[in-house]
Amino acid sequence: MKDHCPRCQAEKKNADRFCGECGFRLNEEEVLTDGTRVEMKMSDIQLNLATVYFKRADYQETKRLCEKILVLEPGNKSAQELLEKAAEAEETELTKG
Ligand SMILES: [Zn+2]
Repeated sequence: MKDHCPRCQAEKKNADRFCGECGFRLNEEEVLTDGTRVEMKMSDIQLNLATVYFKRADYQETKRLCEKILVLEPGNKSAQELLEKAAEAEETELTKG
């Protein structure tokens, strides 16, 4: 069975809690049924997703998303901080060897 993101129609993986394309929260069915509450800020959604990647130690994706957010919102402090944290963690991983 193939599932698709209700927002952007991108194919989603079973384990994904967020859409890889648009960052839409996939398991929050109650949010989907009420269209008026879906209007979460795009940067918030992407930041949530970036945080998930960070917890998974996927720092490349974390940085990629944070950079995306910062293109849209250069003043987004949370994204800046997460980007720095990811860069640091990545550095640590590399030197750990
Ligand atoms: Zn999507």
